[in-house]
Amino acid sequence: MITRNTGFANLTAGYLFPEIARRRREYAASHPDARIISLGIGNTTEPLSKHIAKAMSDYALGLATAAGYSGYGDEQGNSDLRKKIAETFYKGMADESEVFVSDGAKCDIARIQTLFGSHVKIAVQDPAYPVYVDGSVVTGAASSAKADGTGYEGVTYLPCIPENNFFPDLSKIEDNTVIYFCSPNNPTGAASTREELTKLVDFANAHGCIIVYDAAYFAFIRDEKLPKTIFEIPGSRTCAIEVNSFSKPAGFTGVRLGWSVVPNDLKFADGSLVNKDWNRVNTTLFNGASNIAQAGGLAALDEQGLKDMKEAVDYYLENGRIISETLRGGEFKKAGVEVYFTGNGPYVWAKFPGRKSWEVFDLILDKCNIVTTPGSGFGPAGESFIRFSSFGHRADIEEACKRLSALTL
Ligand SMILES: *Cc1c(COP(=O)(O)O)cnc(C)c1O
Repeated sequence: MITRNTGFANLTAGYLFPEIARRRREYAASHPDARIISLGIGNTTEPLSKHIAKAMSDYALGLATAAGYSGYGDEQGNSDLRKKIAETFYKGMADESEVFVSDGAKCDIARIQTLFGSHVKIAVQDPAYPVYVDGSVVTGAASSAKADGTGYEGVTYLPCIPENNFFPDLSKIEDNTVIYFCSPNNPTGAASTREELTKLVDFANAHGCIIVYDAAYFAFIRDEKLPKTIFEIPGSRTCAIEVNSFSKPAGFTGVRLGWSVVPNDLKFADGSLVNKDWNRVNTTLFNGASNIAQAGGLAALDEQGLKDMKEAVDYYLENGRIISETLRGGEFKKAGVEVYFTGNGPYVWAKFPGRKSWEVFDLILDKCNIVTTPGSGFGPAGESFIRFSSFGHRADIEEACKRLSALTL
């Protein structure tokens, strides 16, 4: 028989989100009358922009005509879209030969892990979006879980906590490490400053590291002083890859469209170009994003599309403000709950001192019929925290806040 990939055997507990879904299902089965509201998974809820949807619909209908039909496109993406992404977001920082269009940032992260193989060292912000570590366990770059349950062997965890203003101590990172860095951050909502990112880039260049910079929430940045891409930082072109996505700003979580930027100045130890291997990954292991989704991506980047995306993001940011106000009041305040909401990301990150994340998760599910996300699922430093997502219909957010206000902790 075929032996199991030890990477899968090494993964502990289920992936965070299926475990949340399991608890929700179990609760719903035993409480059939409960009207459960989810402030859990970071999934978009508001309708697509009509302008963007129409571009996809027109393109799809065109595919049913001889003149409008197209089959496989360039694996790296439609050249108009690559150019448009480069001009819109990376003017003077990266060009279209460095932009690769994909079916999403998560899928790109998984494919990026094939670039580095099983022998690379990795470092992650703690807490972090699970795919950086879980994907590395599957490829073998991270190995078995530590006996004390605080993460995996082979991973350097970089605590990002209120005490360090959610920016890690970089001195813990060994030379020649791939550093996964997400800003604005999921789950903490923290957005790194120019000074902080300069430190990160300088560290990476000095120590032979590559930064995999996840900017999936760049569109939520409202503070004009904060960088929206790692390529705003001098020196980043020799040490960073950026992954990005239409999922959150354009509501493309189900449509599927993202992109990565791999500068031509980024090299492996042997002097070869990372961009060249990334091109190989895209042509050999991927076959290009859906052409319908790419038509939507082009529409998202014209004047109307950009305006529509900003409106959608504003809506979620307002939800976040409403949730953070609720958590700053009443019983929460009395219980000493600490609330972190930056207004530059879609998540409210709250610490329940002296409590375990899953215990608070179960309490809120049971007493308020609200699904949240336990911070401990994002890494050891997330223990005692709960992530509240601002993705939801306004009426649901308001109802959830009403229920939360009545919660006794
Ligand atoms: C939602 C999310 C993504 C999503 O990517 P897709 O483009 O939908 O695959 C990537 N990174 C982070 C941190 C996210 O929260």
